[in-house]
Amino acid sequence: MASHVFDRTAEARLAVLDAHCHVDLFLDPSAVVKEAESLGIRTIAVTNAPSVFTYTRDLTATCRFVRPAIGLHPELVCSHGHELELFWPFLEETRYVGEIGLDYVTTDPEIRARQRHVFSTIVERCAARGDRILTIHSRRAVADVLATVGEAFPGKAILHWFSGSPKQLERAATAGFYFSVNPAMMVSRSGRALTATMPRDRVLTETDGPFVKTVRGPATPPDTAGVITSLASIWGIQPQEARDIISRNLRGLVGSPDASN
Ligand code: MN
Repeated sequence: MASHVFDRTAEARLAVLDAHCHVDLFLDPSAVVKEAESLGIRTIAVTNAPSVFTYTRDLTATCRFVRPAIGLHPELVCSHGHELELFWPFLEETRYVGEIGLDYVTTDPEIRARQRHVFSTIVERCAARGDRILTIHSRRAVADVLATVGEAFPGKAILHWFSGSPKQLERAATAGFYFSVNPAMMVSRSGRALTATMPRDRVLTETDGPFVKTVRGPATPPDTAGVITSLASIWGIQPQEARDIISRNLRGLVGSPDASN
């Protein structure tokens, strides 16, 4: 046996928040939930379509730390856009919304327009509810995402895996957005450079598992510990201090340390 067995549990103690995890897309979703619960990692379990929301809702029904989010992914508007009407009753059941947003990898103007319709309708409904927390996809579409959410959105909006320009990042920060950063961003030069310019009080951790992978496989909530370590190095502080910053930001996001929702 190697004497330097990697102590995952010790490192995982740094993990406090996975603000964007596709729990339902893992081979064993309940194992992911169980691990996050046992380590006390606040996890936003995003979903990609209203028709699959109840699975995650029911899986997390008795959780202290894992919260289900109702979503409709921009890349699924063609196949699942008709489910938008199903969205509204679920929006009454949870404060968390995602994955939603815009993805302009498609250049088809009709699909883009359809994405904007779905996204802006959801944002409007969330604004009317007041306290919703949104986790937003904005690939190649940051300008339109910012314009849609606006500066007066009454809830909280997180730009997940931000990959826009430094100028757009500055605009988003001024508009009050949060940024959730993941293991893939921490190993990319541009991801680290962008992260360094984010206001520290607006940075959150995420995995975007199972899409983001680490050397151990699809990233799960404890892998946000590695993100904390990377943030500490980017910020030039100790990992424990970086952890405290993320904890504080989490409280700012949800409103109180033991918020029941
Ligand atoms: Mn995602």
